[in-house]
Amino acid sequence: MSQDATPTVVTPRGSAPGRGRSVSQIVDSIRTREGEGFLVHRPFPGPTLDHFDPFLLLDEMGPVDLGPGEAKGAPDHPHRGFETVTYLLAGRMEHRDSAGHAGALGPGAVQWMTAGAGVVHSEMPEAEFRRTGGRMHGFQLWVNLPRRDKMMPPRYQEIPSGRIPVATSPDCLVWVKVLAGEAFGVRAVIETRTPILYLHFTLRPGARAVQPVPRDWNAFAYVVGGRGTFGLDGREAREHQMVIFADDGDAVSLAAPRDATGSLDLLLIGGVPLREPVARYGPFVMNTQAEIRQAIEDYRQGRMGRIPAERRA
Ligand code: FE
Repeated sequence: MSQDATPTVVTPRGSAPGRGRSVSQIVDSIRTREGEGFLVHRPFPGPTLDHFDPFLLLDEMGPVDLGPGEAKGAPDHPHRGFETVTYLLAGRMEHRDSAGHAGALGPGAVQWMTAGAGVVHSEMPEAEFRRTGGRMHGFQLWVNLPRRDKMMPPRYQEIPSGRIPVATSPDCLVWVKVLAGEAFGVRAVIETRTPILYLHFTLRPGARAVQPVPRDWNAFAYVVGGRGTFGLDGREAREHQMVIFADDGDAVSLAAPRDATGSLDLLLIGGVPLREPVARYGPFVMNTQAEIRQAIEDYRQGRMGRIPAERRA
């Protein structure tokens, strides 16, 4: 297939994308509450889509403007069998876990936590942010682990905003933060267990981008702000909508309408499907029900550890 001739096509170095993918489905988020009761927009899991292999959940936290004392978080809770990926756009969060990791996340930072065999962690607003209030906006993505990695030791990667690589198109109409994978010849600094693409695109009005995504990967876009057209068929989507691409090509196209009043802001997320059984119970995601029962038992017996008292906020 010939490439779109518009000047803003974004093509990674040395790999011209081939056939563009069409859109198979557009999923609306549901509004719900998580943790101590903070607002999330959630495209999955939900009534339309249970999971999108290898992804188990996507929560958009907010966006919400909080008054003093209103910020909420998720106090001590366990995870086993997958990874939680937190990406903040606004607000400040603190992390503590039973593997001894502690971190503070500000706007633009990414935390990639591999729960593996199990951690207990807390994800709370930073004390000063809770006191003052302010805008809270971010994402949490759950990435499933393959059977061989579900019981690996926990791992923690925290990357501040300034260390997330950024790529821009020659005309500066397309801007990409490369959280995982590669875009535009720029590689991410975060390591993933299986090949994952996690890109934050910003397209100025009239811009168009073509991003290669291997044919055997699952891929979707999530619109953070504005509206855009997606895929070969130019399907329209707007904020809080998830655009699922069909597996009929090896590139996806993203475009911001020329008459838009603001930029199109979106996440493009993809990965190699694991094609393994998913047994899921709350914060545990394993392959069999027996493994879920074991996870519950291990947590009850304190085998996932606890957050060191001296490190608590
Ligand atoms: Fe958590």
